[in-house]
Amino acid sequence: MASPEGVQPRQEPMEPLERAISRAAVRENLAQVMDVTLARHSRMVMCMVVMLLTGMLLILFWSQMVFSSHEFDSCDQPLALMIRLIFIIVMVQTMQKAISRHCLCYDAVEDGPPEPLRVRVFRALAISAAVLWPLVAGVMLFRSKTCSKALTTAVAVIIGYYVVIVTVVLVLPAVALAVILCLIRRGHLRLPRMPGAAPEGTVESLPEVAFDSQRFCEDGRGEFPASCAVCLESFTNQKVIVQMPCSHVFHRSCLSGWFQVARTCPLCRGDVEQVSAA
Ligand SMILES: [Zn+2]
Ligand SMILES: [Zn+2]
Repeated sequence: MASPEGVQPRQEPMEPLERAISRAAVRENLAQVMDVTLARHSRMVMCMVVMLLTGMLLILFWSQMVFSSHEFDSCDQPLALMIRLIFIIVMVQTMQKAISRHCLCYDAVEDGPPEPLRVRVFRALAISAAVLWPLVAGVMLFRSKTCSKALTTAVAVIIGYYVVIVTVVLVLPAVALAVILCLIRRGHLRLPRMPGAAPEGTVESLPEVAFDSQRFCEDGRGEFPASCAVCLESFTNQKVIVQMPCSHVFHRSCLSGWFQVARTCPLCRGDVEQVSAA
């Protein structure tokens, strides 16, 4: 009987290095599955981006009105200048391509890579300005004693919005991904069935393996590894253990969540049906 490519015919007890590799394989498989899940929600992501951009435009517009009425206020910190600067920074960020084409005579599509030095310097300056602005403005706001309420409020609102954008764009997705991965790994989360999911009832059809500390150990004498490669928990008689056709063993609950999004073995990527057929 020929084994499908990449499928181990028999499960050898795992050494620490192999364990690390198998964890990496599971993590990589999970990340791929999450990529597909996120791509399916791209419309929601687009909606969020549009809302954030609209909010930013409204705040910019309002802050420029504050600027025009308080431009000449005497103030111990140049907050009016900071309001004007954020406007310029956002405009430069939005029109990066046009500036690069018309002022720096470089078109990414027509001229292709590599980018000339002047374009890279311009890009680096634009990014640095965007990163530095909230920091500098925050310090000025903190030290401001005599600036008008209108100016301090405008700067505080823009800084607050910066925090919202960074949280929504960077922090929330990272945290959500970590939590979702953790829930899938532990079998607590059943994602909606994906096109690549295993057929219904697959996990129920897999044979159970009774836990036996002699068979599930790492020291080279056992038949199976001591821990489940999906949740990384040690096998015990508390959770049902099932064996895949490729001979790899996992907790049933871990595979149940996994099969909602994938039809392959989390460890060797052997297709659960192809292996069964073989
Ligand atoms: Zn498990
Ligand atoms: Zn396998």
